Amino acid sequence: MVKLTKLIDNATLVTPGEKSLLSKRATTADDILTDRDAAEEAAKDNAKAIDALQDALWAEGTRSLLVILQGIDTSGKDGTVRAVFNHCGPLGVQVTPFGRPSEEELAHDFLWRIHMAAPKKGVIGVFNRSQYEDVLVVKVRGLAPADAVERRYEQINAFEQHLTDNGTTVLKFMLNISKGEQAERLQARLDEPEKNWKFNPSDLEDRKLWDDYQRAYEIALDRCSTAHAPWRVVPSDRKWQRNAIIAATVRKTLEDMAPQYPKPDWKPSDFKIT
Ligand code: ATP
Repeated sequence: MVKLTKLIDNATLVTPGEKSLLSKRATTADDILTDRDAAEEAAKDNAKAIDALQDALWAEGTRSLLVILQGIDTSGKDGTVRAVFNHCGPLGVQVTPFGRPSEEELAHDFLWRIHMAAPKKGVIGVFNRSQYEDVLVVKVRGLAPADAVERRYEQINAFEQHLTDNGTTVLKFMLNISKGEQAERLQARLDEPEKNWKFNPSDLEDRKLWDDYQRAYEIALDRCSTAHAPWRVVPSDRKWQRNAIIAATVRKTLEDMAPQYPKPDWKPSDFKIT
């Protein structure tokens, strides 16, 4: 267990201050995960362990965990939520998807809606997309002035430092798929009737901008992988590898946080239920 999480860290972490070299990173993890059955079993065990740890986090009531999922269309953000947090009760995990900002959201600074969704003490928050859209789609499509986007990297770092200083551990995963894998997943959305609903013609427009998105991701990874909130790039062409890596990392993070059930200042034997 310890050994595998170390291998996973080595394969995924973007060392703060160093280049992420996104284009050179593998989109499969065949060097560290070879046995699919075993990896699926481990992911299930880890999902159960995450539930137990979440229970203690809630009982302790002093800290929270924020899991950020970023990735290009079809990279598997929804599937990850389903696989990693499927044992957790709905009370302990709060999933927030970030789509195009509303008029109200656009009338505020870009972090306003993000901060409002940050998990309260005792809760695991999961962001499906996040503040990083404001330096990804916004940069690629020129939705804000370039100098405003430029300032956002430091603003995001300061925001994440603020969360960390106030008891929220921040885990950031970039789900890294290849362009070929995206083509297959988009094609499946056209070919399989039960997946048709997932197809959005605008995904094809974004696909044309693949290189621009990769570059924008690379800059965000380079500039926002910090000691307090490092990025992890997860090889995600194989869903079972992606789930195994993320479940193991979330579990390890919660184990390191070591949430404790509070000790009552009374003795159970002092009470009698009649
Ligand atoms: P997903 O692909 O995340 O599973 P989806 O395709 O069903 O979701 P929505 O969740 O409705 O769509 O919205 C996602 C879209 O919103 C993406 O195209 C994303 O780039 C866009 N988006 C998210 N944040 C912003 C932002 N700050 N500014 C502009 N567009 C944004």
